[in-house]
Amino acid sequence: MAILLFAEHDNAALSDQTARTLTAARRIGGEIDILVAGKGAAAVAQAASAFQGVRKILLAEADALEHRLAEPAAALIVSLAGDYDTVIAPATTTGKNVLPRVAALLDVMQVSEIVEVVSADTFKRPIYAGNAIQTVQATDGKKVITVRTSGFEAAQAEGGSAPVETIGATADPRLSGFVENRLSESERPELASARIIVSGGRALGSEERFRQVILPVADKLGAAVGASRAAVDAGYAPNDWQVGQTGKVVAPELYVACGISGAIQHLAGMKDSKVIVAINKDEDAPIFQVADYGLVADIFDALPELERAL
Ligand code: FAD
Repeated sequence: MAILLFAEHDNAALSDQTARTLTAARRIGGEIDILVAGKGAAAVAQAASAFQGVRKILLAEADALEHRLAEPAAALIVSLAGDYDTVIAPATTTGKNVLPRVAALLDVMQVSEIVEVVSADTFKRPIYAGNAIQTVQATDGKKVITVRTSGFEAAQAEGGSAPVETIGATADPRLSGFVENRLSESERPELASARIIVSGGRALGSEERFRQVILPVADKLGAAVGASRAAVDAGYAPNDWQVGQTGKVVAPELYVACGISGAIQHLAGMKDSKVIVAINKDEDAPIFQVADYGLVADIFDALPELERAL
């Protein structure tokens, strides 16, 4: 058994998502190689070599790979896939973009967003917005898998010394080109990997009040900020803060839901959080059914008070 892990990185640093995907790969079992595809990404390959139990790091650098566009990245993976039984990647924006193309080019099915490895060919994955867990056996000779990383602990990048092998990139299929990357600048932790998240819902009523009430508490806690879809749709919070079925799936140590009712689609994105705190003025709000600590209160009283207490 040999596994190719497609690393998530930004050419400068290896993402925590790679470390979590490595844990899933270890549970599948076999020799694990990590593919770092990018440009100027030697430091990323070096960081990946510190993981224990990895056979080697493959470093492919090219202009076309700098932004991990699906077409050149998939062409590269497919060119390597002959040596592997399994190709695995985190279910991030990049992983969800690249791996379906790999599966299609290999003419196999993809097993998407696994949360548990039952055996080398059998996996568990959520369906119906997380309301049911499906057990899938993949009978294809080659397995293409994305991992819902909140289901796996991050492997520690220490103690290993896997060799880094530089490989040539495949020719750019020139089906796509990079135009620009517009990033929202933030001092706050990234939502997907934050230890603490403070989230606001429709109850905030305006963007101004969202910022006045949610952000100070998040800042005091060193937390990332999340939002319900209702808050995002109403323009109180930017799109990339949305948590839920059609937003980000998170599993922080602490999730504070403020003025969020707890619709099933929101719960799909946060119910695996270790400790859930809910503040809502309606004691029958469904969010209290998943909360470890519930406070029936008006957020406009409770949050400023919490901020002062912190
Ligand atoms: P509401 O449901 O309106 O709840 C507001 C809550 O605030 C209420 O419980 C109320 O009691 C409380 N409240 C009001 N005022 C105060 C106050 N002053 N103090 C304290 N509490 C107060 N939603 C998501 O969040 N993420 C998703 O990814 C997502 N994907 C979806 C996908 C599909 C296909 C569909 C159909 C829906 C999706 N939704 C998603 C929408 C979801 O169904 C809900 O509409 C949404 O989550 C509701 O957001 P909310 O809890 O902020 O608003």
